[in-house]
Amino acid sequence: MTRLRTAIPGPKSLELQARRKDAVAAGVGSTLPVYIDSADDGLLIDVDGNQLVDLGSGIAVTNVGNPAPAVAEAVHAQIDRFSHTCFMITPYEGYLEVCEELNALTPGSHPKKSVLFNSGAEAVENAVKIARHVTGRQAVVVFDHGYHGRTNLTMALTAKNMPYKHRFGPFAPEVYRVPASYPLHDGLTGAEAARKAIAAIEKQVGGDNTAAVVIEPIQGEGGFIAPAEGFLPAIAEWCRERGVLFVADEIQTGFCRTGSWFASDHEGVVPDLITTAKGIAGGLPLAAVTGRAEIMDAVHVGGLGGTYGGNPVACAAALGAIRTMRERDLNAQARRIEETVVSRLKAVAEKTDIIAEIRGRGAMLAIEFTERTPDVAARVAKACHDQGVVVLTCGTYGNVIRLLPPLVIPDDLLAEGLDVLEGALLA
Ligand SMILES: *Cc1c(COP(=O)(O)O)cnc(C)c1O
Repeated sequence: MTRLRTAIPGPKSLELQARRKDAVAAGVGSTLPVYIDSADDGLLIDVDGNQLVDLGSGIAVTNVGNPAPAVAEAVHAQIDRFSHTCFMITPYEGYLEVCEELNALTPGSHPKKSVLFNSGAEAVENAVKIARHVTGRQAVVVFDHGYHGRTNLTMALTAKNMPYKHRFGPFAPEVYRVPASYPLHDGLTGAEAARKAIAAIEKQVGGDNTAAVVIEPIQGEGGFIAPAEGFLPAIAEWCRERGVLFVADEIQTGFCRTGSWFASDHEGVVPDLITTAKGIAGGLPLAAVTGRAEIMDAVHVGGLGGTYGGNPVACAAALGAIRTMRERDLNAQARRIEETVVSRLKAVAEKTDIIAEIRGRGAMLAIEFTERTPDVAARVAKACHDQGVVVLTCGTYGNVIRLLPPLVIPDDLLAEGLDVLEGALLA
C-alpha cells in the first residue's frame, strides 16, 4: 500500500523501541510498537512517515476523531485559562456542564446526578462504593467474560486471568461471578440465560446480600459478546424486585459507539448507575458515574472525589467531544459503519471456514474464529499490522478480532482497511 514508506515497524520506531526497553517497565505491552507522531480522523502517522489505518481508536476512545477540532479548540482555550484547581477545593463550571450532559444523555428520564473521575476502573470502583453504601449490602455480582479494569477491586470483577490477574492477588472479597449470555456458544435465549444467571445468584449469593450487579451491555475485552435479546431486561427486572442496583458498565459501549448514545438504550434498559470513560472526552482522561439522584446523593459529603477527577481540561474536551457527536450525528455514522462492515465480512465468511461468527452492533464489531486458541486471530492481526492496518484482538480465548474504527472515519479509508483485513482472512 502506498501509505507505507518502510517496513512496519520502521527504523525510527525500532530505535525508540530499543530505548523503551531501558526506560519503560516490561509489564506494559504494546499491540503494535509503531511510534506515533500525529493523527488524523482514521489515520495514525508514525515517526517514519508511515500512514496507518486506525480500526481501533485507541480502544474505543477517539470516536470523534483524533483530535476532533472541537476537542482541540476547547482544550487550548481551557489550558490558557487554568489547568487545575481540584473540584473538591475550588470548583468550576465545566465540571457541572459535563454532569448536566451525562444526566441528560444517559438512559431514563428520572432525576440523575453524576460524579467525575480519571479512569474507567476508578469509575467502576466508585459505582461499587456507592452501591454498597446505599444498600448496606456487600456482595457484587459480575459475569463470565466480564472486564472492568486493572485496580484491585476491578481485577476481582474481571473474569480473565492472563494477563490481567495472574499473580496479582489476593483480590477483593465479596465478588461473585455467574454465567453470561453467549448466544454463539450457549444456544440459550435471553430469558433462559437470565434464569440461569439469576438462579446462580439466588443459590450462591442471595438477592438480599447483593448490593449490585455490574454488567457490560455488550462485553468488550471478553469478546464483543452481545447478549441474546431479553437477557439484560430480565436481569434488570430481577434487580428491581430484589432491591439490587443494576450497574451498566458502558465504558467501552458508550458515546455513540453502538449506534445509540448508550448500549442500554437498545433494549430500553434503564440502569440505576452507569459508568462511562473511554469515548467521553475525545482522548483526554475522564470517567464518570451517573445514576438516580437519590442513590447518588446518599453518600456523605467528602465520601467521593479525588485530586484530578473532572480535571477542567478533560471536562472542556468532553464538552467538545459531545458537541461533535451531536453535530455530526455519530449514532447514525456508527450504524452506517455497521452496515458496511457486516455486509463485507459476511461475504468473506462464506468463502472460508475459519470464521465462527461476525457480530456486534454499530461500530463495535467482531470476528470470532472457530478455533478456540489465539493462533488464527494473532495471524490475521499480524498480517493487518504488517500492511499498516491497526486491528485489535480480544476474547477469553483470544480468538476474536475486534473493530472499533473512529466514528468519523472517511468511507474510502474504512474500505481500504477492510480490503487488507479481507486479504488477511482469506490468505
Ligand atoms: C476499558 C474498560 C474499563 C477500564 O477502563 P480504564 O480507563 O482502562 O480504567 C472498564 N470497563 C470496561 C467495560 C472497559 O472496556
